Amino acid sequence: MLNKIDENIYELPIGYKEGMRVPGRLFISESLLEMVEPGTIEQVANVATLPGIVKYSMAMPDAHLGYGFPIGGVAAFREDGGVISPGGVGFDINCGVRLLRTDLTVEEVRPVISDLIEALFKEIPSGVGATSRLHVSDSELTEAFIAGARWAVEEGYGTEGDLEHCEENGCLKGADPSQVSTKARKRGRPQFGTLGSGNHFLEVQYVGEVYDERIARRFGLFKGQVTVMIHCGSRGAGHQICTDHLEVLAKAVRKYNIDLPDKQLACAPIGTPEATNYFGAMAAAANYAWANRQIIAHWTREVFAKYFGDVEMPLVYDVAHNVAKIEEHMVDGRLERLYVHRKGATRSFGPSRREVPQDYRDVGQPLLIPGSMGTPSYVLCGQDRALELTFGSACHGSGRIMSRSQAKKTYRGSEVKASLQREGIKVMATESAVLAEEAPEVYKPSHEVVEVVHALGLAKKVAKTIPLGVSKG
Ligand code: 5GP
Ligand code: MN
Ligand code: MN
Repeated sequence: MLNKIDENIYELPIGYKEGMRVPGRLFISESLLEMVEPGTIEQVANVATLPGIVKYSMAMPDAHLGYGFPIGGVAAFREDGGVISPGGVGFDINCGVRLLRTDLTVEEVRPVISDLIEALFKEIPSGVGATSRLHVSDSELTEAFIAGARWAVEEGYGTEGDLEHCEENGCLKGADPSQVSTKARKRGRPQFGTLGSGNHFLEVQYVGEVYDERIARRFGLFKGQVTVMIHCGSRGAGHQICTDHLEVLAKAVRKYNIDLPDKQLACAPIGTPEATNYFGAMAAAANYAWANRQIIAHWTREVFAKYFGDVEMPLVYDVAHNVAKIEEHMVDGRLERLYVHRKGATRSFGPSRREVPQDYRDVGQPLLIPGSMGTPSYVLCGQDRALELTFGSACHGSGRIMSRSQAKKTYRGSEVKASLQREGIKVMATESAVLAEEAPEVYKPSHEVVEVVHALGLAKKVAKTIPLGVSKG
C-alpha cells in the first residue's frame, strides 16, 4: 500500500485507512523501510486522521513504534481547526542533544579517557532514580520552568553564548507553571541536574571525519577534535506532566467529539483550555530540560578543567527532539502559523530562517544526530529544502530496531562493555542491564539514517564524531 513516489520518499495514500485527512509520508530508504514494524506505518496513518493536520503525517528514516505517534514522527496542525497532542511530543518532553566542542585533540584525551569518564560518571548523577547535587527550592523550580537555560546561566551555570546556541535560546515561551502538578514538581525537584537512564548519555567523542570544511569551520569543528555530546531531557517532571495532561485530554476527546483510531492520540482543539493548559505545562517541562542540559554542561566543563586546565568548551548547539512549537510555514503559497509536533525528530532550519543563530545564519542551524555508544554520531546542517518537504525537520538519531526486553535476552552487559573496551571505548553505567539494552546493535546503522536525510536535502552532512568514552544513565 506504500507507494514509492521518489528516491527515499514513500507515500501512504488517504485511502489506506478510514478517516485519513492527508496522506502519510515516509522519508526513508528501501533497506531502512524493511526494518520498520507494520505498527509504525499504522501510527503514521492514525496521525493522518487528526483534525487540522497540514500536508502529510510524516515519518523520518529513524522511525519506530511510539506512544500514539511514531517516534521519528512529524505532524503540523493549523492554528484554526487543529489540535495539540501529547503523543506527538512524547513523555520525555524536550529530550534533546547538545554538543560542546573543545580545543583538545584525540591524542591528548585518549590516554586519560578511563579516568575522565569515571570522573564524569561520578560528578553527573545518572540512573533511573538519580538525585541531583543541586538543591532547588520550589520557587527556584518555578523560575526554571519559566526561563529555561537562562535560569541556569543566571545561577552561574554557563554563559550568555550558551543561550545563543540553544534552539529557542533555551526557552519556550508560554510556559505556565500553574499547570504543573505537585506530583510533577516533587519528581522534578530532586532530579534537576541529572542525566537519567538508558538511552540518555554523556559521551566524549572526537571528530573522525569532516564532510564540509566550510560549515565545519563555522561550527568550530575540525578533524581530530574532542567534543562532548549530552543527551537528556526533562526527567520525571516531564514524564509526570505528560501523564497528568493525557488524563485531561482523554476527557477532552469526548467533550469535543474527536474521533480517534487510537486513544493514545488524545488531543484537544487548539484554543481550548485543555490544549492551552497542556501547552503551558509542556513548555515548562521543555524549559526544565534546557536548564537541565545547561547545568550538566557546566559540570562537564568543571571536570574537563580539572584534567586539562583552562580549556575552552563552547556550546556548538542544543537541539530539542521531543517538542511541539508554534512556527510559521508556507502552506499553499500562504504563510501560516502551525503547531509543529516533532517527536523523535529534529528541527532542520536552513539559512532562510530567522530562528538560526546569528553566527550560523548563512549556513543553517546544526543538527546533532547520535548513533550509539559504539557507532558514529553526526553533525549536520539545516537546509531550506526541508521547509518544502518536512516543515523543516529531519531525523533525531538512529532509531531502535530491537526492544529493550529482547535486547536483554540477546546481549549481556558485561560482554557489551568488554567488546566496546576492545575497540578503545570506555563505558560506564549504573546497571549492567542498561549496557545490554543499549548495545550498538539495537539501533539502526547511524550512517544509513543520516545518508537518507542528506540525500533528500533535509540536512547536510558536516562531520562525524566517534565515541571515546560514554557515561550511560
Ligand atoms: P532517543 O531520544 O530516541 O531515546 O535516542 C536518540 C538516539 O540516541 C537513538 O536513536 C540512538 O541512535 C542514540 N543513542 C542512544 N544511546 C547512545 C549512546 O550511548 N551514544 C550515542 N552517541 N548515541 C546513542
Ligand atoms: Mn529522552
Ligand atoms: Mn532523546
